[in-house]
Amino acid sequence: MSPPELLAPAGDLEKLETALAYGADGVYAGGEQFGLRALAGNFSLEQLARARELTRRRGKRLYLTLNAYLKPGETDDCRRYLEHLRSLDLDAYIVADPGLITLLREVDPGRELHLSTQANTTNAEAAEFWRRTGIRRVNLARELTLEEIRAVAAGTRVELEVFVHGALCVAYSGRCLLSAALTGRSANRGLCTQPCRWNYALMEETRPGQFLAIEEDARGSYLLNSRDLCLIEHLPELLAAGVHSLKIEGRMKSRYYVAAVTRVYRAALDRYLADPVNYVCDPLWLEELDKVSHRPYSKGFLFGTEDPQLHPGDARYRRSHDFVGVVLRVDEAGRALVEGRNRFFPGEELELIGPGMRQVRFTVGLLAAEDGTPRTVAQPNARLLLDVPVGAQAGDLLRREH
Ligand code: SF4
Repeated sequence: MSPPELLAPAGDLEKLETALAYGADGVYAGGEQFGLRALAGNFSLEQLARARELTRRRGKRLYLTLNAYLKPGETDDCRRYLEHLRSLDLDAYIVADPGLITLLREVDPGRELHLSTQANTTNAEAAEFWRRTGIRRVNLARELTLEEIRAVAAGTRVELEVFVHGALCVAYSGRCLLSAALTGRSANRGLCTQPCRWNYALMEETRPGQFLAIEEDARGSYLLNSRDLCLIEHLPELLAAGVHSLKIEGRMKSRYYVAAVTRVYRAALDRYLADPVNYVCDPLWLEELDKVSHRPYSKGFLFGTEDPQLHPGDARYRRSHDFVGVVLRVDEAGRALVEGRNRFFPGEELELIGPGMRQVRFTVGLLAAEDGTPRTVAQPNARLLLDVPVGAQAGDLLRREH
């Protein structure tokens, strides 16, 4: 059996390169159509060709999300799109709709197919059903407990994938019409406006404008808001249960998020594979996962409902660090060319992070433009020269603690 796979999101080409550099075995991206993330920086056909080149060069895998449910009248459009995609020779498509799968079988019969979590696979019989239709891998419904995952794995030969980290919906495996009902923008068409995260209040109908205080703090109560998933402490159980692919959510998250989360799961997976018997979760990994923007973490339904997933009183994002820059290159003297993402100044303390859990704090010294002109501030998108710690490499990121 091949080693387990760490699968990371690629919201755009830059994030794809980051995910690969920070340890993903595979990445998943959306094209311009039928990919359920209409608001993400989706890949054009040319960008997908480039993405394929980058992943192949590193011996990694690239999957394309095609997990929308087609409506009558979209078939011809979809068929044309699939025909364009065929020549890109991507490693697999992530699909959900039997109609789209049928089209794919006609247009591109040999292509590897993975079933999206949107298809709600919750038992071994369903997994076997999909395997017999030619599906190679199933991303299980998020509602399953560890025990249920184990039971599915015992009863099917299909490869299994689960989400281990990232945002959760309160809807059944992402099937939800709340956004469609309130804003006309359907989550099932990739247009979710996330109304489950909005701030709601109660109002009695004869007293318009008078909102009843149900909030836990001055910001109101987020009745439908879900915590974020984090299963870093349970990778051994998931792998022993028969899961092959560990998936990180977040095609719309930042480059820093992709780097910081992927490198932690890479470190954990490598540690486990090197010595499964003596594996323990390193507290540093949990600390690092706390340094990305997130809602309070939860174990989802992995252990049933013992860990409440809805968290009305404490829905705010935690954000302890700002992403301030990307190292583009480093010369032999340790002088780096950095592209700013947030403002930073000489004398400030920053932290440089890189693949393999490299991280080192340093104080920013002199800043200069590429032509050597001194600068007193690094602005977002500006390219500046500065001294960085020994061992820094292109692709490393700079962050600042609040
Ligand atoms: S409204 Fe919330 S629960 Fe519904 S699809 Fe969007 S994020 Fe998920």
